[in-house]
Amino acid sequence: MTSQPSQQIPGVYHRKIGDIVVTVISDGYLDGNLEIMRNVDLDRARQILSDSFRPARRTSVNTFLIHSKGRRALIDTGSGNYLGPTAGHVQRNLAAAGIDPKSIDTVLLTHMHPDHSAGLTDMSNGQLLFPDSELVMHENELPHWFDDGAMSKADERSKKLFFEAGREQVAPYRNRTRLFRQGEVFPGVTAVPSHGHTPGHTAYLITSGDHQLMIWGDTVHVPEVQTAIPEAGMGFDTDLAMAAAARKRMFDRVSADRVLVAGMHTHFPGFARLARRGEGYALYPEAWVHSFDQA
Ligand SMILES: [Zn+2]
Repeated sequence: MTSQPSQQIPGVYHRKIGDIVVTVISDGYLDGNLEIMRNVDLDRARQILSDSFRPARRTSVNTFLIHSKGRRALIDTGSGNYLGPTAGHVQRNLAAAGIDPKSIDTVLLTHMHPDHSAGLTDMSNGQLLFPDSELVMHENELPHWFDDGAMSKADERSKKLFFEAGREQVAPYRNRTRLFRQGEVFPGVTAVPSHGHTPGHTAYLITSGDHQLMIWGDTVHVPEVQTAIPEAGMGFDTDLAMAAAARKRMFDRVSADRVLVAGMHTHFPGFARLARRGEGYALYPEAWVHSFDQA
């Protein structure tokens, strides 16, 4: 008798971008409904999902480890233990990839939402999960989540999950936090401000020689629906109109340039290209490669 497998193989995937290796480290996934979507007819959204063989909203949560010039940076940190058992697996998958968190000298955040910044600190003991990392994010982001006025306007759930979780997660890094406006923020990594989803939401463009990868952060949360209908937003967008404008700018840019993209919520491992299709766009996932040197 041989035994059957009982656990998934770890969510780790390498992709070479010129001289840089990008390793997708999965945090897991989150399940939700479509009622959280805004500026979209929900029946149409439901139809698009079911036409894509996705009967429910299942959202991958991805983080990206950048190996560049002998250094390592992690873009986003996943959910920690804030969002249930299907997510929060970054540390486990880093270990499976043979990566010591102490070898990561920089954590770049796309923004401070719990599925991105809640993997920074272990709240059971206050320990930094990336003890040798500098924490780096856009200068608009931190002040927003520490703004008591903005917090007082939020509903109870957002207060707790967005403001309080964000504050307690980044606070232990306060003496090692660097804020930027734009430009190169790590060797080969350029910040592309894409505000709206949150005030400091930022994409990161990875460049090496002629090779590029746009890690577009939370440009989409429901890829099938939001590429088909770029106006469609999420109830937790800080500014729906600004988020939609940023999404359209990003879609224009990456489809015109035919640049490889990846997102925190594109389906794992998340690499794809975007093309114009009718009134909207469609994402075409990149084929899996065995030898990532030749991708
Ligand atoms: Zn997110």
